Amino acid sequence: MTLLDGKQTAKTLNTALKLKITEDTKYLRAPHLAIILVGNHPASLSYIKGKLKAAESVGIKATLHHLEEHVTTDIVYELIQTLNKESDVDGMILQLPLPKHLDEAYLTSAIDVNKDADGFHVLNQGLLYQGKESIKPATPYGMTLLLQAYNIDVLGKHAVIIGRSNIVGFPIARLLMDLGATITICHSKTKDLAYHTTQADILVVSVGKPHLINKNHIKKDVVILDVGINKVGDKLVGDVNFDDVYDLTSAITPVPGGVGPMTIHALLLNTYHLYEKHVKMKSK
Ligand code: NAP
Repeated sequence: MTLLDGKQTAKTLNTALKLKITEDTKYLRAPHLAIILVGNHPASLSYIKGKLKAAESVGIKATLHHLEEHVTTDIVYELIQTLNKESDVDGMILQLPLPKHLDEAYLTSAIDVNKDADGFHVLNQGLLYQGKESIKPATPYGMTLLLQAYNIDVLGKHAVIIGRSNIVGFPIARLLMDLGATITICHSKTKDLAYHTTQADILVVSVGKPHLINKNHIKKDVVILDVGINKVGDKLVGDVNFDDVYDLTSAITPVPGGVGPMTIHALLLNTYHLYEKHVKMKSK
């Protein structure tokens, strides 16, 4: 059984990224990520703290624009437009979820597609689904980098994904299919979930329900990527009952310390790719 240690893998990959940025910033300005946070959602505050710290650790300048909970869609839109025009901003993210009164789809796609560090813009998603070069959503991208780091071959495998969100379930299906997997996507309307999950060579779970998956849902030697982050009491747990399935898997991500740190690494990598693009465009 292999523990897919996202924390350690992200640390190694972040160190390599830092070296590149240190080299670049001998001649050029540092990459710059703008982060917009609306309100004080406790989980979002904690994710933002992690993103700011990680950005700083690799030499990416990160600026936080923290707006109050009751701000209007127009005000957030104006801020996005201002940051779109700022030439030294390479990447921008709008931390989700937004308060319910804000128009998430409209605001996400107001971000300049060339600054879309989270890869949530409708054009980037369209490019991804057509198999063209795009900024990939950070969580699915991070998961593929984790599989790569552990030399887990996806080609010809049956990947079952639980969850069809635009930010995780649907794009990881596309990325794993591009790597040669055969895909099944399950969701809340799927009948007999265990029928599908017991056929999985690779099982991705992105639901948000603590311990939804246990040993009755899997076959021996499955690779599990547990995306869920659920607060139970004062502990964070995944969508998979780790202790129950552990011995039966060939590889599994822990929660915390699995997919989460890889998501942050992928965000930093996306910001760096956008920076490279902007700096190269300017030097032409
Ligand atoms: P989401 O948008 O709420 O989507 C949840 C998906 O789960 C939906 O497709 C839903 O089906 C499906 N679902 C709900 N109940 C189900 C059930 N009983 N059986 C099968 N499918 C079911 O969630 P998300 O944005 O993908 O996030 C999911 C979890 O991952 C959350 O805990 C979130 O905090 C976490 N997350 C972690 C990271 C990270 O970096 N580690 C990043 C993003 C999200 P329908 O479509 O039919 O409603």
